[in-house]
Amino acid sequence: MNRAVFLDRDGVVNETLMVEGIPVTPKKVEDFRILPGVKKALSALKHAGYFIFVVTNQPDIPRGTLTHEELDKMHAVLAGNLPVDKIYVCAHDNEDACDCRKPKPGMLLQAAEQWELDLAASYMIGDRWKDTEAGAAVGCTTILVKSPCSTEQPRHGRGRTVRSDYTVENLAQAAEIILSREADGR
Ligand SMILES: [Mg+2]
Ligand SMILES: [Zn+2]
Repeated sequence: MNRAVFLDRDGVVNETLMVEGIPVTPKKVEDFRILPGVKKALSALKHAGYFIFVVTNQPDIPRGTLTHEELDKMHAVLAGNLPVDKIYVCAHDNEDACDCRKPKPGMLLQAAEQWELDLAASYMIGDRWKDTEAGAAVGCTTILVKSPCSTEQPRHGRGRTVRSDYTVENLAQAAEIILSREADGR
């Protein structure tokens, strides 16, 4: 069985932009900026034998404020610069009632089937409750990265507060935790 690190995208891998105090995801490839330390952290995880997957909600596509073309350009930048094995995208909104929109774990389950993953030995890293809920739902160890979104509380679902096994400042710290647990034989 293989082990994986699942990454939320916005706020974990790339910057979220603050517009009038509200975090917004990039709509243009020019605004897509990979955060400092991400490449090094992912290289270390890759070297330790983890598959690396991005699992991202992109409801701006059905909302009409982001095009598939622009999203593809951003993901070409991502894949060209980082050791990511696959990028999974949920291009739905709530009313689509899909299985993949986090906090639902559909993207993680799909990856687990395709890549024969041991989810209990895998990690979900994100900056919102929806990310950690998706990871917890399938038995992953969850790591919350602090961001402008990370204090948002769930309005529904199983929990009413953001739950995670660990909370860190950035992806580099998350990688340190994973690698130190590995060294401890967990
Ligand atoms: Mg995010
Ligand atoms: Zn979906």
